[in-house]
Amino acid sequence: MAEFKIALIPGDGIGPEIVSGAKVVLDAAAKKFGHSFNYTQVDMGGCAIDKYGVPLPEETIKTCMESDSVLLGAVGGPKWDSVPAEKRPETGLLGIRKALGLYANLRPSILKPQLAAASPLKSEKLVSGLDIMVVRELTGGIYFGKKQRAEDGSWASDEEKYSVEEIRRIGKIAFETAMLRKKRVVSVDKANVLESSRLWRFVMTELAKDYPEVTLSHMYVDNAAMQLAINPAQFDVIVTSNIFGDILSDLSSAIAGSIGMLPSSSLGENKRGMYEPIHGSAPDIAGLDIANPIATIISAAMMLRMSFGLIEEADAIEAAVDKVLDEGYRTADIMSEGMEKVGTKKMAELISERL
Ligand code: NAD
Repeated sequence: MAEFKIALIPGDGIGPEIVSGAKVVLDAAAKKFGHSFNYTQVDMGGCAIDKYGVPLPEETIKTCMESDSVLLGAVGGPKWDSVPAEKRPETGLLGIRKALGLYANLRPSILKPQLAAASPLKSEKLVSGLDIMVVRELTGGIYFGKKQRAEDGSWASDEEKYSVEEIRRIGKIAFETAMLRKKRVVSVDKANVLESSRLWRFVMTELAKDYPEVTLSHMYVDNAAMQLAINPAQFDVIVTSNIFGDILSDLSSAIAGSIGMLPSSSLGENKRGMYEPIHGSAPDIAGLDIANPIATIISAAMMLRMSFGLIEEADAIEAAVDKVLDEGYRTADIMSEGMEKVGTKKMAELISERL
């Protein structure tokens, strides 16, 4: 029996519904495999602004630091759109990533055969076997670079800056991830224009020498976007900077169908990670028990596999998700003809029962 401390951050909008769905499944997994998961629930985002006046209270950071991992729903919503930039819910997200030293964001985009119709790319040839892992640098680059605005408002600038070490550590995660997959890495940059990209390309090329089994190729970001749209199945692991990763991971997710299905993990130097669905807080459907909890449930499975080393347990959760989909149960976002529509709670219950 193993014991783990999990910090739960439900957040805003559909966050509380999908996180409680994931908890039902985690509890079922704990019972089946004889583990103990101890949860501490904390606030972040809009709900924290309402309660404490800040998006990321100290207590939340402390609880996360003391936990073995963090499971997050989503933060934000129209209610907080007009608060000053430094107090916006998204600032909490950037803050917690920084505080926990989570510099790598891994987003698998897998198109499940049961949901092939959900992909906007209708050609079976294009999407069959689609299984891409985008490894995005998360705490450097232009989002964290020096920001300037002229006093008279006539110009503004953001700095894209990367150190060799920042590129090396994210590159290592990409190569090591590829070793467990099809052993292909595409490093995406804009080395024809940007100096920081030329350094990126140089470091990736040097690093590749440590991984002789992995094939490294380089692609400019504009071409990568085009290739994702016309031939996505060519990719295995994509490694890229913060801003390019932000854009390309959304594109690769969209190709794989509903965003309600896709998980992500953010990792740093130690085993502790933060796991969350790729979607936002979906304020338009909050509180209606219609959100798809599967992205959060698969994020929880990723947590068991990557942070806790509970491989069999993670596989069992993913198999239970497949089973429920095979049986024809669908939430509204992935609904198609002849299937049975269920709500958030029911979907989580079905998955926990199939475990
Ligand atoms: P969103 O991902 O919340 O929603 C986009 C669309 O997808 C909506 O129609 C929504 O109903 C639908 N959707 C999202 N998740 C779903 C699910 N699990 N099941 C079924 N349908 C789902 O993106 P948005 O509308 O651009 O943003 C809403 C808020 O979320 C904003 O405040 C934004 O800043 C925030 N946001 C937060 C995160 C995060 O916490 N990591 C990420 C993205 C956006």
